[in-house]
Amino acid sequence: MTADPTVPRTPGRPLLEVHDIHKRFGENEVLKGVSLQARAGDVISLIGSSGSGKSTLLRCINLLENPNSGRILLGGEELQLRVDRHGELRAVNAAQLQRLRTKLAMVFQHFNLWAHMTVLQNIIEAPVHVLGIPKDQAVETARRYLERVGLRGVEDRYPSHMSGGQQQRVAIARALAVEPDVMLFDEPTSALDPELVGEVLRVMKLLAEEGRTMVVVTHEMGFAREVSSHLVFLHKGCIEEQGVPREVLANPKSERLAQFLSGNL
Ligand code: ADP
Ligand code: MG
Repeated sequence: MTADPTVPRTPGRPLLEVHDIHKRFGENEVLKGVSLQARAGDVISLIGSSGSGKSTLLRCINLLENPNSGRILLGGEELQLRVDRHGELRAVNAAQLQRLRTKLAMVFQHFNLWAHMTVLQNIIEAPVHVLGIPKDQAVETARRYLERVGLRGVEDRYPSHMSGGQQQRVAIARALAVEPDVMLFDEPTSALDPELVGEVLRVMKLLAEEGRTMVVVTHEMGFAREVSSHLVFLHKGCIEEQGVPREVLANPKSERLAQFLSGNL
C-alpha cells in the first residue's frame, strides 16, 4: 500500500498503528502480541516493571530491533517487511524504512547525543544529511526548537559541558527538528538527577499541549495521569490493562497493575 501525500488524512485515522508484535531473544519471548494505536494528538504513557518489554516495543516500532512478526503502519502506510533466515522481520525497501523513520523520532534515556558534535551540529545532522534540508534552513529550525525547549545561546556548546536536563532538552530539540509525526520517548527522565526531572517533564507537557503525538515509556505517574490521554500497562510482554489514565490509575482492574502501582506511588 502506498500513501498518496495529496490525499488529506482522514481525521482521527491513527498516525501510528502497531499490530500484534512478537519479539523473541533466543528462547525469551519478550513481546507476545502487542498492538497499539496513536491518533493525532494522542499521548500514550507506557508503564510496566523493568523487563516487561517497554524498550523493546519502542525499538521494534522504528525497527531498531527486528520483531519476529507483526505489522507497523505510519500515516496509513504499511512498512513492507519480510522474514529473514533468523525468523526476524526486515524492511524490504531501505528507502521506505528511512522515510518512515523520519516520521518517528526517538528520545532515549541516556540522551544519545553525539559527543564530538556541538549542540547545533547534533540538531541539524539528520535534517541536512537525511532529509536534504538546506543548512541555513536547518539552522533556523534548530534555533527555533532550542528556544522551544527553553535553551538559548547553547548552539556551540558540547553535550558533555551541559547538565543532564539540558542534554535531554537538546535531544528533544533534535527529535523535533525532523518534524516527526510521532515522537517516541524511552524513560526520558530516568537518568536525571531528581532536581532536573521537572525541566524535561515541563517541555514534554508543552509538546503534549501543542497536540503532538507521543508514546512515552515512563515511571512518572504524575505525568502519566495529568498529561497523557491513554495509559498502557505492559506486563511480561502483554498489555495487561489500558485506558484513560485517571480511571486506570485510580481503579486498576488487574491485580498486577495494582501491585505495580503500590510499589510506584
Ligand atoms: P523494559 O524496557 O520494560 O525494562 P526491555 O524491553 O529492555 O524491558 O527488556 C525486556 C526483556 O528483553 C528483558 O528480559 C531483557 O533482558 C530482554 N532483552 C532486551 N534487549 C535484549 C537483547 N538485545 N538481547 C537479549 N535480550 C534482550
Ligand atoms: Mg527499558
